[in-house]
Amino acid sequence: MANVKFLSGEQIPLEMHKVRIVQKLTLPNLERRLEAITEAGNNTFLLKNKDVFLDMLTDSGVNAMSDRQQAAMLIADDSYAGSETFTRLENKVQEIFGMKLFLPTHQGRACENVISQTLVQPGSIVPMNYHFTTTKSHINLNGGQVVEAITDEGLQVTSTNPFKGNMDIDKLNSIIEKHGADKIAFVRMEAGTNLIGGQPFSLKNLAEVRNICDKNGLLLVLDASLLADNLYFIKTREQQCQDMSIREITLKLASLCDIIYFSARKLGCARGGGICTNNEEVFVKMRELIPLYEGFLTYGGMSVREMEAITVGLDETMDEDFINQGPTFIAFMVDELSKKGVPVVTPPGGLGCHINAMEFVDHIPQNEYPAGALAAALYIASGVRGMERGTMSEQRNPDGTEPLSNMELLRLAMPRRVFTLSQVKYAIDRIVWLHENRKLIEGLTWIEEPKILRFFFGRLKPVSNWQEKLAAKFRQDFGDSL
Ligand SMILES: *Cc1c(COP(=O)(O)O)cnc(C)c1O
Repeated sequence: MANVKFLSGEQIPLEMHKVRIVQKLTLPNLERRLEAITEAGNNTFLLKNKDVFLDMLTDSGVNAMSDRQQAAMLIADDSYAGSETFTRLENKVQEIFGMKLFLPTHQGRACENVISQTLVQPGSIVPMNYHFTTTKSHINLNGGQVVEAITDEGLQVTSTNPFKGNMDIDKLNSIIEKHGADKIAFVRMEAGTNLIGGQPFSLKNLAEVRNICDKNGLLLVLDASLLADNLYFIKTREQQCQDMSIREITLKLASLCDIIYFSARKLGCARGGGICTNNEEVFVKMRELIPLYEGFLTYGGMSVREMEAITVGLDETMDEDFINQGPTFIAFMVDELSKKGVPVVTPPGGLGCHINAMEFVDHIPQNEYPAGALAAALYIASGVRGMERGTMSEQRNPDGTEPLSNMELLRLAMPRRVFTLSQVKYAIDRIVWLHENRKLIEGLTWIEEPKILRFFFGRLKPVSNWQEKLAAKFRQDFGDSL
């Protein structure tokens, strides 16, 4: 955002882009929204896009491309081997991360499959600041176990700590001491920690983690999927980095890591993924898996057009005017909701605005999925689609018991460069209404519960007829307004 002051003194995020392609939206009426959420088994993942007004489910693969990305897609080189397109991407990755070796994959979780198969063995421990759903599944699938060492404040919903995604160094040390360094497959740092509200780590913290890894001979792996937001926060929140360019911060950060992987569905506003490293030994082992799971080494399951878009998208990630759009819109939404008394994760992170369902609907027990119920209720009230990030997103233990999540969040993702401020204001308005009527919201219970990644395609029903009651109140307050 441009550093522009408004006469009123208000903090209004100002876009440094204009929109040149548009997609028509529809806002289904209340009756249709009630039908649609029932058809979707109260799982917002299963809603059809034609029934959704603002799609705030995810930032994955739905960020708006730039004119330069679209233009680059037209000059893609389709050769199976030796493609110029791949060379351009490889060169860009080398330039930005300063790493020599690059492997393409079809998306972020594919990198996790390759890295886990290569480095994780039965009994392995993988310490990390915080897990991501697919990361944990891949580590578990290979017989390893995730141990988290997030700072205590990382799990506090409201805080003024600018770096809630930091690794707690004492916790990391005791994990290594307890299990022994030889049991540890690698240490993982996740930029812009997805499941706890898009919270960043600091460059200083990453350097401390590197130091511990050096002392113990451990590999440091960075999940850079949400790096763009994290870079913006380092630049704006970390005193020592204020005079560094985004490029300099990225190079410094990369120099501390042994392996960097990313989902290009987020980083670079395209679709695809990749793994970079300077470690030849690990590279050679990982490389064997690429043709098996992804595709040949010069495309890894990606289309050449997507690779061209990533190359330009990565370059644009180095432009502060571009990467600040998401965080400033999110900060606007978080601040407005806080002012109206809606419980949200603070400080504002990247990725999206996160509503604290544990407090919003504190009368719903965790095993009736407060965040899932709130997601269904918000869809009914507004046509806005969010995502449950709480107990539903966890997996049952082998004995069938259900681990309760540390946090129950409704995530309202802010795909980069996609929404206008008036659309964000509409979402705020309906959330405030829902908050005033929160006592009408009740829980959900499974009708179909898949064993793995149940939140993607499981189906639920409301525990009572609360959704009809909520709709009746909506009609009373809004009349025949959509
Ligand atoms: C999205 C995401 C992934 C997985 O990437 P996909 O491209 O969706 O497979 C991994 N890690 C983090 C932090 C993510 O946000």
